[in-house]
Amino acid sequence: MFDHLDRAALATLPTALEPAGVVSSSAPRLWIKRDDLTGLGGGGNKARKLEFLCGDAIAAGARALVTVGAAQSNHCRMTAAAGARLGLEVHLVLSGEEPDGRRALTGNQLLSKLFGAQLHYTGAADSHWGELEIAREALTDQLAAEGLAPYSIPIGGSTAVGALGYAQGFVELIDQAEAAGIMPSAIVTTSSSGGTHAGLLAGRAALLASGRLDASRAPAIIAIGVAKGVVAGYPDVAELANATLDLMQLAARVDPADVEVDTRWLGDDYAVPTEAGAAAMDWAARTGGWIVDPVYSAKGLSGVLGLISDGRWTAGDDVVFVHTGGWPALFA
Ligand SMILES: *Cc1c(COP(=O)(O)O)cnc(C)c1O
Repeated sequence: MFDHLDRAALATLPTALEPAGVVSSSAPRLWIKRDDLTGLGGGGNKARKLEFLCGDAIAAGARALVTVGAAQSNHCRMTAAAGARLGLEVHLVLSGEEPDGRRALTGNQLLSKLFGAQLHYTGAADSHWGELEIAREALTDQLAAEGLAPYSIPIGGSTAVGALGYAQGFVELIDQAEAAGIMPSAIVTTSSSGGTHAGLLAGRAALLASGRLDASRAPAIIAIGVAKGVVAGYPDVAELANATLDLMQLAARVDPADVEVDTRWLGDDYAVPTEAGAAAMDWAARTGGWIVDPVYSAKGLSGVLGLISDGRWTAGDDVVFVHTGGWPALFA
């Protein structure tokens, strides 16, 4: 399904599928898919997307990567690392202002700079993604005019090409589940630009169509929305998943009815911490030494723990939380 596609080897795969034990006596068995350990530049879910995005960039003859994100963007940090690995110049369009001399770079920005990327500050708010995207397009045009042949990646790398990474990730996860003798009732992921969610759905549709998964037993895919866009239904995740299936040259389709976004865990806005997220962060740290971050994976995990206490599953079910990473934001 993926052999005909351009791909750069950037991630350490497969990532582990780790048992997290039983949360309470009536709860399902929880598993953690360790995509915080994808290796590239500190790891996280963007490494899988960047394998296909950078493969596409190199095939197109690009000499630079341009992308965009919030000030503490993990996607920007991993794009910077990918550029370093592949010898491509990297330009990052970021929210906020350039830290002045008295305040050093922190967290993801510190790492992005260390990986050699050029940081472009827009002054935009963290959650004003439209404004950031316009700035990315303007910078892309400028770099193209300078003859740099830039490959421009939208926020979160959530194009159909980027989502291929999670279609492949879904197949990897099913291989591991089968080897462990389980079939998860659900796979839960944190979602902000929708590409991880769309990719997982595309992978699921592909295995349903091939007969490898049975519709009555296939895991539900649940996204915990941590940005206003995905909570409001943008992007159209079924459409993005179907564009991903097109790239895989499959006729399989994702039914919009299978797109489930739990909107209860965002709190006030993107990157604004929640109490439930803080509790999930403590639980993860003290249960398994897992590091989740307040912007993404802590809110995602708070959703999983919340669904467990809602009684969505019962003892004997297996549920997988895709740990998408994000630890460098703790140092900002
Ligand atoms: C980008 C990111 C997500 C969300 O993934 P999308 O594909 O953009 O929805 C989740 N967790 C972390 C740590 C991220 O960096």
